[in-house]
Amino acid sequence: MKYNLICSTCGTTYFEDSHPEICTICQDERQWVPPGGQSWTTTAELLQKHSVKLTRLQDRLYELEINPMFAIGQRALLVLSEKGNVLWDCIPLLDELTIEFIKSKGGLKAIAFSHPHFYSNMNEWATHFDCPVYIHKNDEAHIMVRGTNIRLWDGEEKDLWDGMKLLCIGGHFAGSSILHVPFLSNEGTIICGDTLFLSPSKKHFSVVYSSPNRIPLPIAEIKRIKNRFDHIPFDSFYGYVKTQNLHTDVKEIFEISMAKYV
Ligand SMILES: [Zn+2]
Ligand SMILES: [Zn+2]
Repeated sequence: MKYNLICSTCGTTYFEDSHPEICTICQDERQWVPPGGQSWTTTAELLQKHSVKLTRLQDRLYELEINPMFAIGQRALLVLSEKGNVLWDCIPLLDELTIEFIKSKGGLKAIAFSHPHFYSNMNEWATHFDCPVYIHKNDEAHIMVRGTNIRLWDGEEKDLWDGMKLLCIGGHFAGSSILHVPFLSNEGTIICGDTLFLSPSKKHFSVVYSSPNRIPLPIAEIKRIKNRFDHIPFDSFYGYVKTQNLHTDVKEIFEISMAKYV
C-alpha cells in the first residue's frame, strides 16, 4: 500500500488506495472542508513548490514550518536535549535537508503529539528517525494510519527524560496534550499545540473546542483546565503557529484570561 495522499486542507496523510472520499479529520466539527470541496496532493507535488523552513528559536529549540505555508500552517518544534531530542508535532513535509539537519543534531529519540491536527505524515517521520510516536490514548480514534512506531500513552502525565513531561490537558480534543520542558526557561516552558490559543494581541489565551469554527467548551471544562494549569509551573509558552510565542507575564496573562470565562 502506498502511503502518500495528503489532504490539502489539513495535511493528514492517507494510503492512496484506501482513503476516504472526504478527509475524516476535516469532516470533524473542529475542522472544515473548503467551499470548493476536498482536494488532495502528494509529497512529490509539495516538494516542487515547498520546502521546510528551519528557525532557531533558542539554543535548544528549533521551529519547522512549510514554506510557503501549506495546510493549516502548523509548525513542529524540535527540542534538543542531552539524553535525546524530541520532535513536538509534525508538519506534512519532510525533505532531505531537514533529515540531514536533525541527524546532525543527534536524530530523534521520540516524536510526541499535541493532538490530531498535527498527525499529518507522522509515520514517515518515525520511519526516517526510527523512533516511537507518543499519542494520547484518548485520541486513538483520530489516527488515520496506524504505523508500527505509534505508542499510545494513558493517564494525565508521561515522563520522558531530562525532566521533560507530556501532560494530557484535554479540551480541544480529549487527548490534547502539552510538552513541559524544564530547561528552556526559569520556571518551565509549555509547548501547547492549540490546547491554549494565544490571541494576536498576545494578551489573551482562549481555551476552546474549535478555534476556527468558534465552538466553545462547557464552563466546567474551562474550570477543570484552569485547575490543571494552576499546578503546572511555566513562564514561557509556544503555541501552534509561529505567531504564538510568549515569554513575559505568561502566567499572569493566563490568569486574567481564565478569569474572563468564570
Ligand atoms: Zn483534512
Ligand atoms: Zn487543533
